[in-house]
Amino acid sequence: MKEKLLEMRKAFYKALEEVLTPAELDELRIYYLGKSGALKEILKQMGGLRKEDRPVMGELANELRDSMGEAMASKLKEFERMLLEKKIEEEKIDITLPGEKISMGRVHPTTKTIRELIDVFVRMGFSLEDGPEVESVYNNFDALNSPKDHPSRGLSDTFYFDASRVLRTHTSPVQIRTMKKMQPPIRMISVGRCFRNDEIDATHSPMFYQMEGLVVDEGISMADLKGTLEEFVRQLFGEETRSLFRPHNFPFTEPSAEVDITCFKCHGEGCRFCSGTGYIEILGCGMVHPSVLEECGIDSEKYTGFAFGMGLDRITMMRYEIDDIRYLYENDKRFLDQFRR
Ligand SMILES: [Zn+2]
Repeated sequence: MKEKLLEMRKAFYKALEEVLTPAELDELRIYYLGKSGALKEILKQMGGLRKEDRPVMGELANELRDSMGEAMASKLKEFERMLLEKKIEEEKIDITLPGEKISMGRVHPTTKTIRELIDVFVRMGFSLEDGPEVESVYNNFDALNSPKDHPSRGLSDTFYFDASRVLRTHTSPVQIRTMKKMQPPIRMISVGRCFRNDEIDATHSPMFYQMEGLVVDEGISMADLKGTLEEFVRQLFGEETRSLFRPHNFPFTEPSAEVDITCFKCHGEGCRFCSGTGYIEILGCGMVHPSVLEECGIDSEKYTGFAFGMGLDRITMMRYEIDDIRYLYENDKRFLDQFRR
């Protein structure tokens, strides 16, 4: 029996040397040390031995089982080490290869316009205020004196979350928020995204940018409004730009006006861009309606104010001669790369 055990050991080590994969190693383990493996088979003959020989044989069998187990464990470790080395070799970085080119981004034309507008108004002493894009119906419509049956309140024009919350349709609610939190004098602007349920075409986008301004103080008149906006137009579009105030109607201002500026392409001569009129509309404005002031807790007998608002996409398109609003939202790098200055 001892010879059989030693023979088995010899055969095992020979086979172990020929093992090439972890799977083969597993097969070897089952063949020699498994439930009905070679070692178990030999041990079945234990009954035929003399009583005093049995412990000796048992000890030898145990030793064999342990040393074979250890030999297989170290073989497995060797496989793992080889696998790791192979992986390291494969993943090695070749530092002689040329690197990937990092492509630099550019400031978006709308962002450029926003930054310049903020600059102009901050220099005139305005503060920059902010408000949420998800707004209450109260701040977006009611507090702005918007009639209950105004078409802009309709589901077809405005994105509603529920009866009391909307995606703001203009930046005007920020004026309400500002007047509610501070007393005059107020000189503020607000810039941000607004949303309307518009079909997308060359001049409409359901998401767009607006800027609004508000001044409330004692003795503010239409002359202050005109002076401020004319200064703004000259700073943004150039000294020679003239502006034209046309009467208009907004629920939150009285009187109200729309402002046109001389066409930057033909400088007032009349061209295709301005439909031959020489002027282009850029904003809406007016004296804040007394009921809006009162709604916000400001004494309309003591204070007056003016407000204005403009679409920044339109202004950006005019400044950079972009003829389709969709270019501003498509994030096409080929388009954006043109605006380096
Ligand atoms: Zn023109």
